[in-house]
Amino acid sequence: MNPDEYLVEAQTNNQCFEWTGEMIKDPDGIIRPYEEFEDVHYNACRVLWFIATKKDPGEFEVLHTCGNECCMNIRHMYLGKGD
Ligand SMILES: [Zn+2]
Repeated sequence: MNPDEYLVEAQTNNQCFEWTGEMIKDPDGIIRPYEEFEDVHYNACRVLWFIATKKDPGEFEVLHTCGNECCMNIRHMYLGKGD
C-alpha cells in the first residue's frame, strides 16, 4: 500500500496494519518502516504523519499508542519525545 491507501484504510479500520514496504533496523536496534525516495530513506511513519496533517513532525518522534513501530494506522500515532 502507499501512504494514501493507509490513510483511507484508517478511516474504517481501527486495528493495526503494518507497513508492507522496506524495514530497517535503526541505530537504537528498533525495526522501523522506511520509504525510499531519491536514494534517501525516510521513516514511513513520519511520511504518513506529514501527509495526514500537512505538518512536519520536526524535532518530535512519531510514537504509537499500540506500541507497534511498524503500525501505519494514523489513529494510533501521536507526537512525542522518545524515552
Ligand atoms: Zn497500531
